Amino acid sequence: MKKCIYCRCDVTADAGREHVIPQSFGVFKPDLTLNCVCRTCNGYFGSKLEWPMLIESIEGGRRLQFGLKGTVGGIGTKGVMPTVAEGDDWKGARTRIRTEKDGTESTEVLPQVGARRNASDPWEWVLAHELTTEFADRYPKGSEFRIVGGNDEADNDRIVQKLIAVCTTFVYGGKMNPPFSGDGKVMLHVETQTSRVVGRCLCKIAFNYMAMTCGDTFALARDFDQMREFIRNDVGDEMGRVFVKHKPIIAQEILSGQRGTDGHVLTVEGRPADSTLEIQLTLFNSIPYRIPMTRNYIGHRFAQGHHFSLESGEVSELKTTYAGPDFDPPISSGSSSAKFD
Ligand SMILES: [Zn+2]
Repeated sequence: MKKCIYCRCDVTADAGREHVIPQSFGVFKPDLTLNCVCRTCNGYFGSKLEWPMLIESIEGGRRLQFGLKGTVGGIGTKGVMPTVAEGDDWKGARTRIRTEKDGTESTEVLPQVGARRNASDPWEWVLAHELTTEFADRYPKGSEFRIVGGNDEADNDRIVQKLIAVCTTFVYGGKMNPPFSGDGKVMLHVETQTSRVVGRCLCKIAFNYMAMTCGDTFALARDFDQMREFIRNDVGDEMGRVFVKHKPIIAQEILSGQRGTDGHVLTVEGRPADSTLEIQLTLFNSIPYRIPMTRNYIGHRFAQGHHFSLESGEVSELKTTYAGPDFDPPISSGSSSAKFD
């Protein structure tokens, strides 16, 4: 009889199957499921991890944009504010993703003011309602200001007048051109405070995927006990578990030849060169994460990945997904060991 990869109890015949990607995030063909998760763990994940993730995370919000069923009330993007990630002039400016009535999406740069004391400081970007005297006090004479975003001149005028009112040192030098390149797209950086429960849910999806690709016996290795405890029993440190990548998962670029896809991407990489076995994932093509499973990996080098299309409902295997150890900054924590054979 199979052992549950989360609690090690026997998986009985009536257990049902655990979906690698929660069904609330889409139903796919083939339906990738695990038969090595017990009934109790399966039920626990549904109510205690997946549901909170739906209502707390940016992925939960994106889920509604893709027409998957759900309660709209309560969906928020707590702590999430996508910002412009490229171009020196606009870097850090705040944006929002706008969904039109016909379902098309566009990125809108909110009307805002950028300020810095001198050229070596980063820009601080504030919206109209944050233009207070405290803001003005932070930027004495000689500070530099920028006004960006907004849809029309009226937006622009409003924020200029507000800024003049609070900030006497401000001298208006004209509006700036938007950062959008020829293709009308701009790379966004999403600063997000992933809550512990969302982090655990992401780890669960990653762990499920590892069990699917590497097998349940591999997933039962003692090396993963800390990860298991974190996911299943809410025990242990959340630091060093989930990293937001600053670049998209490379598989996405390869797959579509452009930035992003319409769906979920999961990859697994065994990298003996830096002793790491790592899962990368992005849900609803929103935030790319990487989740190291072990920093003591001594198996062979391998890479595998899947794309889950929300448009067609199809799952396709990615051809090349190996990103290499230098793709993101190295990780300093981790104490498990694992062998893959
Ligand atoms: Zn279990």
